[in-house]
Amino acid sequence: MKTDIEIALEAKMNPISSIAEQMGLAEGDWEPFGHYKAKLSDQLLNKLADRPNGKIILTTSINPTPAGEGKSTVTVGLGQALNQLNNKAVIALREPSLGPTMGLKGGACGGGYSQVVPMEEINLHFTGDIHAITTANNALSAFIDNHIHQGNQLNIDPRRVTWKRALDINDRSLRQVVVGLGGAVRGVPREDEFTITVASEIMAVLCLAADLQDLKKRLSRIIIGYTYHQEPVTVNQLGFQGALTLLLKDAMKPNLVQTLENTPAIIHGGPFANIAHGCNSVMATKIAAKLGDYVVTESGFGADLGAEKFLDIKTRAGDFEPDAVVIVATIRALKMHGGLNKKDLQHEDLGALEKGMENLEKHLETIRQFNLPFIVAVNQFSSDTQAELDYLRKWCEAQGAPVSVIDVFTKGGEGGIDLAEKVVKVCESKSAHLTYTYDLSDSIEEKIQKIAGKVYGAAGVQFSTQAKKQLHQIKQLGYGQLPICMAKTQYSLSDDPSQLGRPRNFYITVREFRLSVGAGFIVALTGEVMTMPGLPKKPAALQMDVTEDGTIKGLF
Ligand code: ADP
Repeated sequence: MKTDIEIALEAKMNPISSIAEQMGLAEGDWEPFGHYKAKLSDQLLNKLADRPNGKIILTTSINPTPAGEGKSTVTVGLGQALNQLNNKAVIALREPSLGPTMGLKGGACGGGYSQVVPMEEINLHFTGDIHAITTANNALSAFIDNHIHQGNQLNIDPRRVTWKRALDINDRSLRQVVVGLGGAVRGVPREDEFTITVASEIMAVLCLAADLQDLKKRLSRIIIGYTYHQEPVTVNQLGFQGALTLLLKDAMKPNLVQTLENTPAIIHGGPFANIAHGCNSVMATKIAAKLGDYVVTESGFGADLGAEKFLDIKTRAGDFEPDAVVIVATIRALKMHGGLNKKDLQHEDLGALEKGMENLEKHLETIRQFNLPFIVAVNQFSSDTQAELDYLRKWCEAQGAPVSVIDVFTKGGEGGIDLAEKVVKVCESKSAHLTYTYDLSDSIEEKIQKIAGKVYGAAGVQFSTQAKKQLHQIKQLGYGQLPICMAKTQYSLSDDPSQLGRPRNFYITVREFRLSVGAGFIVALTGEVMTMPGLPKKPAALQMDVTEDGTIKGLF
């Protein structure tokens, strides 16, 4: 089979004007960004406010393994399949970060015959949103350092600046740096850190803001650090909320593209789910729900991270809820959860599969706790055997879980027709409201204990001495009612990436808190999770090239 990039470059894309027209958009609702991309107006949601909402389908998965799950592939494939069944479907995805694109993973546009295009542009600089976020993030750092240099009227303690610089590339050398070295004319020396842009609070702010005004309000609230008297200092006190909003005004507009089968896709915002909240923007999802009968959207990594945060943070911020959840699993990944090595995945192994099922079992339990109807989508790989697929299907049926084996990777939408038909029925079966994991009025400790107990299956939570101190401070500042954004490894239900399957009798350790008042959540960092990833020994970038005639190579 051809590679993802070969398939993507052969796509018969429609001009973006025709996609906009197909969605019923009027002239002022969008502006072209080249031939195949467009920016949607940030006023569109207000304009469409009176329209009924389409059904929202959330795609999530089991804990990811190096075997690959294909959540984006299934999201795109399902959207295409719904469209083939003559439904008006709109896909709502996150924007890829250059960190994993250049590093380990490759892109984030789906795969095979279920991709969003122009994939090379989406995977690289796209419409510049992530660059704008990097710039706004680092402009704020510059404003802070300049304030300190110019007399420090606000009495900011340089040792307590919590705002970090950002870059959208995995660069472990920047995890801890010292800035302002070189004498009085080069600023005030202080320790700093870089986070990857997708973990910047500005990314979360943009994704959760209702509109430009709300964006500005959230930016003003951001706490950048503390004074020598340990009082918080906000962007509002520095006075740069206007400039930051200005830097982000175009990034706030959702991006419109299409799939290989010309199904509309809105791609906007892209926080990671392990170190940030993991969902595309509220604005994009809500616009998609106004424009489509069905919206297929995804949250990052497994249901323990992306889906939990989608359901406990994003739906609260956006005041909506999904109608159905698609849980993606693969035979290969389940076998890895059952103890098989990656090199042995080609062979049938019903024993490993049976053992690995407990990972899926936990995620089914989790989605049941949220009280949402769901379906298991088995993303078929060529190495899967009939006996393995039959086993998985029967296992789901025995659990009372609807299931569909799909092949959207080699067949596009056609390979997901059965899933699409079942998803339509699953949406109709929704009879109750979403049940959150915790109440906002619970204490911070209770919220984390509920997430760890109900979603991860942990026996309890331990807090480091530093975390306990920070907890006290957060409560004293009056922010105890905010939701929690857990930062945890994606590979395991626990905070130890080596514990695959369904670990039991384990404790989660919260080692640090970060207060994101602008985003409106408290980040709880567990285990060894870093907010600036590193590159592997052989980064994906080693394969990349562009030939003299402009042909792109090695983007997967
Ligand atoms: P996720 O969203 O879970 O990270 P992606 O959809 O981005 O996963 O897919 C990861 C990689 O796996 C992509 O390169 C994609 O082409 C590949 N892939 C997805 N589904 C299949 C499949 N059924 N068979 C072979 N490769 C697949």
